[in-house]
Amino acid sequence: RTSHILVCGGAGYIGSHLVRHLLERGHRVTVFDNLSTGHRAAVGNADFAEGDLLDSAALGRVFARAPVDAVVHFAALSIVADSVRDPERYRRNNVDGTVNLVRAMRQAGVRRLVFSSSAAVYGNAPGEWIDEEAPKQPINPYGASKAMAEDALADACRDGGLAVASLRYFNAAGAHPSGMIGESHQPETHLIPNVLRIAAGADAGPVQIFGRDYPTADGTCIRDYVHVDDLADAHRRALAWLEGRDGFHPFNLGSGRGFSVLEVLEAACRVAGRPIRSIDAPRRSGDPHRLVASITRAEQMLGWLPLCSDLDTMLETAWRWHRAPRF
Ligand code: UDP
Repeated sequence: RTSHILVCGGAGYIGSHLVRHLLERGHRVTVFDNLSTGHRAAVGNADFAEGDLLDSAALGRVFARAPVDAVVHFAALSIVADSVRDPERYRRNNVDGTVNLVRAMRQAGVRRLVFSSSAAVYGNAPGEWIDEEAPKQPINPYGASKAMAEDALADACRDGGLAVASLRYFNAAGAHPSGMIGESHQPETHLIPNVLRIAAGADAGPVQIFGRDYPTADGTCIRDYVHVDDLADAHRRALAWLEGRDGFHPFNLGSGRGFSVLEVLEAACRVAGRPIRSIDAPRRSGDPHRLVASITRAEQMLGWLPLCSDLDTMLETAWRWHRAPRF
C-alpha cells in the first residue's frame, strides 16, 4: 500500500536518500525544507515546499496541501562544534522546531512520526555495544538538543494520539548507487567525505587524524558506519511498524561493527586506488573514543538488516559520488 509521506529536511544527506527510496517504491513524498544546509537538486521529483519548522503558518500550509499519512523529521542542525559555540540556536532549531512540528501534526490529525535522532544522545556510553537502555548523557549541545527533542516527543506521546519511532543513527555513510545524490556539507566535517574529497582532488588535504592516543588498538577513534540506503530502509520499516501503535520507541541504527579512523583511511585508499596523504593532529574536543551500536532491537522489531553497511560498499558508493558530485 502506498502512502503520502511528509519529509521535513528531505533536501539533506540522509533525508534525500529516504525520499528516493520512498519514490522508488511508489509512495508520494512532499519535502519541507528551509534549504539552510540542504540542496534543492537533492529532492528530485518529490513535491517541494520551501519553509522552516519555526514558521507555523508555512507548516500549516504544507499539511493543508493534501492529506499526509505520516511524517519523517530530519530538519535539524548537526555540527557539534557549532552547537558548542551557539547552543541557543541548536535548541531553537532542533527542539522548538520539533515541538512546532508535533503541534502542526496534531492540528492536521497525523499520528505517525519517524524522528532523526543520534548516537550523540548517549555521550560516552560505557561498554562495548550501546543499546537503547543506555543512559542518555550527551556531552555536547547538539546531542543535548536531540535528547531534549526526544523527551518532548515522549511527553507528547503520553497523552495519546501520537506514535514516534526515534532512530538513533550512528555514523551515516555511503551514497545512492546511481551517483545522483550523496553527501555534500559546507563546511564538511565528517571523516569519509573529507578523505574522499582529498582523494578526488576537491580538497588539497592532507587528512587530519584527530588523535592517535585513544585507548583503542591503533590509538584512533572507533565508529560504527551505516549506509544511508540501509538507514532509508529502516525509516520505511519504522513507518509501517508504527501503524496501529502509539507511544515513543527508540531504535539504534548502525552496522553493529566498529572501524578505527586508520582502518577507514586504509580502505579509502584501496577503493580510490590511490594513496591519500594524512597527518596526525590533536584530538577534536568532545569525541568519544568508541561508539558502536547494538542493533538487536531494530533487527528483531523492524525486521531490519544493514545489508549494504560493509566498509567497501559504503566507500565505493561514496567514492562514485565524490568523484563527480552534482551539488
Ligand atoms: N576524524 C578525523 N579526521 C577528519 C574527520 C573526522 O580523524 O577529518 C575522526 C573524528 O575525530 C572521529 C571520527 O573520525 O573520531 C568520525 O568523525 P565524524 O566527524 O565523521 O563523525 P562523528 O563520529 O564525530 O559524528
